[in-house]
Amino acid sequence: MKLQFLGATRQVTGSSYLLDTGKMKFLIDCGLYQEREYTYRNWQDFPVFPNEIQYLLLTHVHLDHSGLIPKLVREGFSGDILLTPPSRQMLPIVLSDSARNLEEDAAFKKRRHEREGKRGTHPEVPLYTVQDVENCCTCLKEVPYGDFIQLDNQVRVCFHDAGHILGSAMIEIMLDDEDGRRSIIFSGDVGQWNKPLLNDPSLFEQADYVVMESTYGDRDHEDSQTVDERLCVAVNETVKAGGNLVIPTFAIERAQELLFHFSRLARAGKIPYLMTFLDSRMAIEITKVFERCLQYLNKETLELFRENQSPFDYPRLKLVASVEGSKAINLIKGSSIIMAGSGMITGGRIKHHLAQNITRPESTLLIVGYQAAGTLGRQILQGATPVRILGQSYPVRMNVMQVEGFSAHADMSDLHRWLNNFKSPPKHVFLTHGEDEAIQNLSNFIRSENWQVSAPMYKEEYAL
Ligand SMILES: [Zn+2]
Repeated sequence: MKLQFLGATRQVTGSSYLLDTGKMKFLIDCGLYQEREYTYRNWQDFPVFPNEIQYLLLTHVHLDHSGLIPKLVREGFSGDILLTPPSRQMLPIVLSDSARNLEEDAAFKKRRHEREGKRGTHPEVPLYTVQDVENCCTCLKEVPYGDFIQLDNQVRVCFHDAGHILGSAMIEIMLDDEDGRRSIIFSGDVGQWNKPLLNDPSLFEQADYVVMESTYGDRDHEDSQTVDERLCVAVNETVKAGGNLVIPTFAIERAQELLFHFSRLARAGKIPYLMTFLDSRMAIEITKVFERCLQYLNKETLELFRENQSPFDYPRLKLVASVEGSKAINLIKGSSIIMAGSGMITGGRIKHHLAQNITRPESTLLIVGYQAAGTLGRQILQGATPVRILGQSYPVRMNVMQVEGFSAHADMSDLHRWLNNFKSPPKHVFLTHGEDEAIQNLSNFIRSENWQVSAPMYKEEYAL
């Protein structure tokens, strides 16, 4: 069997791996490249003909793992896409949102290039459209956690909870052929232990080969005690000053996790029940999937639902889907919590709320997620003023706060814990989905145990 690395090689996006048994080819993940220096690969032909691939196994719905699926299907893939039941419900929401953004960006770029009389490096057409997403969704096939599924007479696969986002999976693959039995584990993105809402990541005792993410291979997160304390400070100080708490929010997991924290803090009397707006159609749709998928959430969360204390429904929480509803938020007097996308303030309704609050010293901007270089979120975090929002310049007078510790990824200690559970060394560990320093650090840790470890390059191939 051959394993080829088609993405997430010494970088953190574009996850995709090809397994070729000689009789069958299948992919694990088909992710979008999001780092600017690699986005050109989104436009290239796939390194393998899509119509030669029989299956795609999806670890989870984040775009860096799923975002090229509509293109794969449009270019000839017609096999089954295997994914967990919650991922089955979320993937159409996530990919449709991505397609709408790609369509809008292409139209915007076309108008700009026409105005400026120039031509870009890529055609001004969307990478894929909402129609492409609808077409690819006919290939989706749910597989439950914990059951081995036979792909052909040599290959069986099993999805295990990764604890990273709802529906996320680590995928275990068993191959039986003339060379004997081999097992491979793809970690997908590894979650954290003791997180709100989700179960802990699955652990394994044995595997011949491990393909493992290494995003935080060199860093540890703040603990969740600190998260609650800092959220309390942010809310209570903003209320005292009489302003609004504005939070740029990622639609999957982060929004639901914030609701979980705010409902718990309010019920414990540590913060007042403020008007709280979740102003994001996608975040609302994803939250509804959470409510339909309670059996996949952890015991603590199920207990809350049993006691009628749903974190997604508490006094003064308002889910705002419409644009009119979004605009009406700004007419409300007194303090409120406003959560809206996008998470790095690169677009979406958050920009309007920011424009309304950025010159008010009594309001607070609360950053709860990673802000990539070049985004408005990063600029404000670094103290830039004035900043441009929706074509207008504003001095930054609002208070800016950051709470770390919200990552859905395992940190360094978690990754060590996951590895330490193996009772015998795998024949080889392949590190992916990490930048150089993280990979280097985790490689050193693994090598210190005398295990074999590599960080494959793009398109590199290994015989297993
Ligand atoms: Zn992820």
